[in-house]
Amino acid sequence: MRFVQIVVLAGGTGGARFLRGVRAAAPEAEITAVVNTGDDVTLHGLRICPDLDTVMYTLGGGIDEERGWGRAGESWTVKEELAAYDADPTWFGLGDRDIATHLVRTRMLDAGYPLSAVTAALCTRWQPGVTVLPMSDQRVETHVVVTDPDSGRPQAVHFQEWWVRHRAALDPAAFVQVGVDAARPAPGVVEAFASADAVLLAPSNPVVSIGTVLGVPGLREALLASPARIAGVSPIVGGAVVRGMADRCLPAMGIEVSAEGVGRHYGARTDGGLLDAWLVAEDDAADVPGVDVRREPLLMSSPEATTELARAALAACG
Ligand code: GDP
Ligand code: CA
Repeated sequence: MRFVQIVVLAGGTGGARFLRGVRAAAPEAEITAVVNTGDDVTLHGLRICPDLDTVMYTLGGGIDEERGWGRAGESWTVKEELAAYDADPTWFGLGDRDIATHLVRTRMLDAGYPLSAVTAALCTRWQPGVTVLPMSDQRVETHVVVTDPDSGRPQAVHFQEWWVRHRAALDPAAFVQVGVDAARPAPGVVEAFASADAVLLAPSNPVVSIGTVLGVPGLREALLASPARIAGVSPIVGGAVVRGMADRCLPAMGIEVSAEGVGRHYGARTDGGLLDAWLVAEDDAADVPGVDVRREPLLMSSPEATTELARAALAACG
């Protein structure tokens, strides 16, 4: 089956790589990426959207491939100068090239443009070849409830502080989407689901990437109302995350760190859940009642392997 309109729910690194595969697998299709903005944060007066930028830079050829985030050929002069002033926070990596993106974004937001319009404007430079939409124009920021090591009392810290500063070392008791009650899907999101003929869940973090996107009021309903089949790709391979620290988020939500655990968490569409199909790695056992579970190579280790994975995901929507 040839797909005309494909929607992909995505976070940062896993989502961006997968999107590159979808673009290669379906070069004629209109692809819409609905991207998590729960990681967004304001630092040094700059509005930073890590997952949107990772998607934009990766698809636009500007990403630092090794790191998986930020700009290729980056330098760090501004960061060093800020540190020389002891200007908090010093733990977040803001590169000189990257800062230009945040300056343009912040100026446009301050002038009153919604994030979706700002993102579209930034993408005129990067030409990602897909429509990059934030999940919402309203601010939604993920906070993590942890135990304050000094007072022993619960405390909420911004996701970036927990993830980058503490390397996810503090046990999370809960993830809270601050601002979510007032959020709506960004312009184009509901329409994209309504006209899609394939909907894919990228192998992104099920809690703080996909989970955050699905938490926007009305978005999950729009997704489920789509005439398209919904296929998800497991971010867990061989019982472990492929990159990063997503395994720190799953147990807090009572999700087992396995392809089966995440598949059951998403659930069967026929049973109030999301999935028509679920792609797991060839060696992973996964019994997800009501879902078409398919075994495929899931490692995005090369452009070819990533394109094959995207083809398999699309085939599961056919
Ligand atoms: P983040 O926002 O940068 O954390 O990125 P995402 O949420 O989009 O993706 C993070 C997830 O991608 C992690 O849970 C990884 O296990 C997963 N991931 C990274 N590389 C691969 C890969 O090659 N194959 C699969 N199946 N998952 C991957
Ligand atoms: Ca992220």
